[in-house]
Amino acid sequence: MRVALELRDFAKYPFLKESQQFMGRNTDIIEEFLCSSPGKIALRHAMDRVRAALRSPGQQDDMRDIPSDNLGVKISVSGYVLARIIVSCTKDRSLIERLARYEAQRAFRFLIDEEEDKRVFIAGSIGINSAGADLPVIQYVEIVAGLHEERWRLVNRDVWNGRVRVSPVEMNELLREQVRVILLRQLPLSVPETVCGLLLPQTGEIQGLFQQTMLEQFGAVEEDSFPPCMQSLMAALTGGTNIPHAGRFALTAFLHNIGMAASDIIALYCRAPDFDISKTQYQVEHISGRSGTEYTAPSCAAMRTYGICINSDALCEKINHPLNYYRTRKKKEKKQESGGSTGTSQS
Ligand code: SF4
Repeated sequence: MRVALELRDFAKYPFLKESQQFMGRNTDIIEEFLCSSPGKIALRHAMDRVRAALRSPGQQDDMRDIPSDNLGVKISVSGYVLARIIVSCTKDRSLIERLARYEAQRAFRFLIDEEEDKRVFIAGSIGINSAGADLPVIQYVEIVAGLHEERWRLVNRDVWNGRVRVSPVEMNELLREQVRVILLRQLPLSVPETVCGLLLPQTGEIQGLFQQTMLEQFGAVEEDSFPPCMQSLMAALTGGTNIPHAGRFALTAFLHNIGMAASDIIALYCRAPDFDISKTQYQVEHISGRSGTEYTAPSCAAMRTYGICINSDALCEKINHPLNYYRTRKKKEKKQESGGSTGTSQS
């Protein structure tokens, strides 16, 4: 069934081919567009979009501000395009993933309020027949590949006649995931160096902001709160002991995940006896996401398999990931500090 999209829908769902058609064939060279008045407004809009993507989902409350006039919608869709260009220029996989997740969540918020016909039409545009209450097994498995909750595992699903039953709420969640996967697949865009050069102030600001967001999430890096395994790896490194590849990988990914800058991680490896600057730089940047994949530190189960779960303590029994250990310890210490300062002022 063909559904007529309204002007506002192009701003709500800029990834649809109809939205791109609405923008028409743009003969402007992107460098010229960026220097024009509409280009500057679109760039501001793009930056708002990327900044919103860096905030946690609960704080992304500006998503309902949708223009309804022709110019406003064009600027909104251009902002979507420029936001993708900006994160592509950073070549930072974490930023790219944040933007894809934000765009999917943004579309999802609009989608759940749409009339059934329009929702089904938009779902169809991204390859999902959401009119029924089930999906073919193959499609279901492809969509849920990035969803790690137990409820999505095929063994926990009601499968009948080659189809997986899905509730209406779950169908919406799968639509969101499908948007995320499609957008992620398209990124990073291949952007000419000249364009990235023009966008250097924006990419610099975004990278700085992202670093700050990570620090806010985990706070300043505090070695005292590291889990025993990471403390041991750090001690081995400081003591001039060569650590095995799995240990280097786990430590680098962990330090990157808690917000340590690549340059600081490299500086840390200077202490290793076999330090080789170019090799270390390549490895650290690869693990930090320059290669296109951002790595997460291994779980405790994987650390055990590699034989680098060392000196586990009581807290280790309550967590399943070194990052959880670090988060928990930091929270606990912060609580103790605020309790301690209250005590001091009262005495
Ligand atoms: S249980 Fe996990 S956090 Fe604790 S030492 Fe082992 S790997 Fe590290």
